[in-house]
Amino acid sequence: MTDGTHERFGLLANAWKETVRDAIADMRANMAAATAQVRRTINRRTSDTTERKRLLTALRSGCWATDPFLARQMRKRWKRGRNRTYNQIVVRADQYNVAVDAHGNLWLAIPGLQRRRLVRIPLSTIVAPTGTLRLMLRGGRVEVHYQTDASQLRSSQRPCGKRTIGVDKGYTEALTDSDGDQHGRLLGEILSSESDRLRERNRRRARIRSIANNAASRGDHTKAHRIRCNNLGTVKRSQQAARHRARVRTEIFTAVHRVVDKAATVIAEDLTKRFVGRKTFGKNVNRRLAAWTKGVTAEALTNVSERRGSVLVHVNAAYTSQACHRCGSLQRRSGDRLHCKPCGVVWQADVNAAINILQRAVDPDIALHTPHLRVKQILQDRTDRHRTRLPVQDSSPVTTERRAKHPNCSATSNSRKQVEH
Ligand SMILES: [Zn+2]
Repeated sequence: MTDGTHERFGLLANAWKETVRDAIADMRANMAAATAQVRRTINRRTSDTTERKRLLTALRSGCWATDPFLARQMRKRWKRGRNRTYNQIVVRADQYNVAVDAHGNLWLAIPGLQRRRLVRIPLSTIVAPTGTLRLMLRGGRVEVHYQTDASQLRSSQRPCGKRTIGVDKGYTEALTDSDGDQHGRLLGEILSSESDRLRERNRRRARIRSIANNAASRGDHTKAHRIRCNNLGTVKRSQQAARHRARVRTEIFTAVHRVVDKAATVIAEDLTKRFVGRKTFGKNVNRRLAAWTKGVTAEALTNVSERRGSVLVHVNAAYTSQACHRCGSLQRRSGDRLHCKPCGVVWQADVNAAINILQRAVDPDIALHTPHLRVKQILQDRTDRHRTRLPVQDSSPVTTERRAKHPNCSATSNSRKQVEH
């Protein structure tokens, strides 16, 4: 402010100040997010406690640049150097006012580019915004974003349940819990119809765009311009996208609320984890939508748990969708079924996964950061041990010998035999 940098931008000093403050807060948040991810890689990299401690301290105190490993990790994960935000300004609480006109409509008055000349914006709501506002220009409309106290929301007053429940994230339904209940069943339908619609629309837009390009290359710039303005606009497209996002969010948040209705502790996979390093999905609409819903589910789980006072526990989800929850053997999943040959049972795959996730919370060997190959090894070792305990068909000498060696096992095999007969 003192060296007059802000004057270059042709803004009032306050508007400039608040926007810079907001940008810096974004950078800090990005850096904090990167730090959190790097903390996870440290846990995965080493199990040596002193080394771990050294790395974590260096990360926390901001000295990561001098350590080659930390510097490399931070460079990879810290999103920086590019900003696509061009359509919003931040207005401080004491810079605007809200008034009601004779018809009962709400008007927001904010400072414009000229001193003491307020810009008035009609609002489509009857609730006046409070605190610092973020104004976005989107599709010819002004969106007013502001913070509300989540504890004041009606859904935050709903008490959480008392039990511990494991959940698995699916694609046809938002969540399946370890009781076998499915929540957010419309999700798959919403996603596939949206992806069909997008594919069809993108195809049509490509055709129109090629007509415009042809016209431009012929020198008919009037026609090209007319097509771009009238047939390739983004107003309707972004409105439809926003509507779709809202539908998906409602479906997922409702699903999470249903789970929290019965759970005091929700056990789930850390859904934010797999995004690391994956930058683009190209044209694949399905995968892009699926990846985005995963982020929304992660957000909903954290958000709802925080508001309703339940605890969210993240567990290692490696092989939870392939292992039988009863005997632990790894099986191949076919569609929504998981056939366990040793048990001779067909499980509903998502329910099986949710039970596995629930059990991971108390698993003595598999911690959150156990590498997935190690998890596989542990599971296979357990199955082998389980197999040696399987019932024996007759009392041959081998059996007698084994009984003598493992008195506990013979007890199980006896009881099993009785059940079988
Ligand atoms: Zn089994």
